[in-house]
Amino acid sequence: MVDLLDKHRGVMERFQRMTDMGINGLGVTNDKMLSPTRAVVDGREIILAGTNNYMGVTFDPRCIAAGQKALEEFGTGTTGSRIANGSFALHKELEAALADFLGLEHCIIFTTGYQANLGMLSGLAGPKDTIYLDADSHSSIYDGCTLSGAKLVRFRHNDAADLDKRLARAENDGGGRLVVLEGIYSMLGDRAPLADFVALKKKHDFQLCVDDAHSFGVLGPNGRGLGDEAGLSEHVDFVIGTFSKSVGAIGGFGASNHPLFETLRYAMRPYMFTASASPASIATSIEALKVLKAEPERRAKIWANSERLYNGLKGLGFEMGCDVVSPVVAVKMPDELTTIAKWNALFQGGVYVNMAVPPGTPNRLCLLRCSVSAAHTTQEIDDIISVFKQAFAN
Ligand code: PMP
Repeated sequence: MVDLLDKHRGVMERFQRMTDMGINGLGVTNDKMLSPTRAVVDGREIILAGTNNYMGVTFDPRCIAAGQKALEEFGTGTTGSRIANGSFALHKELEAALADFLGLEHCIIFTTGYQANLGMLSGLAGPKDTIYLDADSHSSIYDGCTLSGAKLVRFRHNDAADLDKRLARAENDGGGRLVVLEGIYSMLGDRAPLADFVALKKKHDFQLCVDDAHSFGVLGPNGRGLGDEAGLSEHVDFVIGTFSKSVGAIGGFGASNHPLFETLRYAMRPYMFTASASPASIATSIEALKVLKAEPERRAKIWANSERLYNGLKGLGFEMGCDVVSPVVAVKMPDELTTIAKWNALFQGGVYVNMAVPPGTPNRLCLLRCSVSAAHTTQEIDDIISVFKQAFAN
């Protein structure tokens, strides 16, 4: 008999290696969450510097109260998909609030951001269409392409000239063409040069989709994401995002001005065949959007924190993930063993960062990835920098 789990033996060995060197950085347990930026792990209080809690709203009393009220009024779960069971008023309220936040006509929410990518990409593109993907795309975008059955063409990361060539080569392929970019790339922290890609729309026919998972709430004068920052929102046909980062809850969304957008509800399997998010997380998302809108100073703070961390680490001589500042601050490591050892040294020093190793990284890179929060105090940012300094002192 072929043991189906045999193929994963290598993963066991990899985990064992991590555990032998200290704590398994891919399996940490937060025994207690003290705030958006602090937790108790292994009996010790640590600074969280890898949680994508960009706006720091997870403990906001207004969001907690909204979640509690929804629990009381709507119960613990939705117990089915919106197609089968119908929507709760809260779903519609969140969709309207988000459309308003984005300045778009239509919005559809999903149970997770991962499902938003699966649903949107497979709803938009089918076997006769082609999806053009940035090579550094998140796994959920790749998985969405697989589910769609569309032809997949990868172009070099952030390279509009490479995409230009590939679009030209396939000019007569027929079918629709969807180009997918990310606002802030999740591992290295760089962002798509949107103007270069939008310029290609004058030469080639395609529709453009941006996954703003890491840039929603963060980029642009209104926090709407990459299009908002670049002043090019009207050229982005579809926006995808998540509630698990700046919004501090769970869920995802797709949004657009396309007049047929609503038809996707009946075409997206990851929307139709899974239960919708729980009332509490929908209600906290609605409240978090209000907080993000009412308190733009959070955006100012996250940028100040990001500058401070990026420049602090760069100043220590680290090779940074990219040459621009964003709330994703990654430091490149030479190999996996060094990454594990240094991750443990940081952890012992009281700082949690992401141990980012293949297959979760582009180009098989090994990274110590930090994500900055508006809730980090300046002192916490300085503490993170000094723990990095200590961890690499020998
Ligand atoms: N898109 C990108 C670019 C992401 O980084 C992630 C998650 N890190 C997702 C989508 C999926 O979002 P979620 O974790 O909310 O399901």
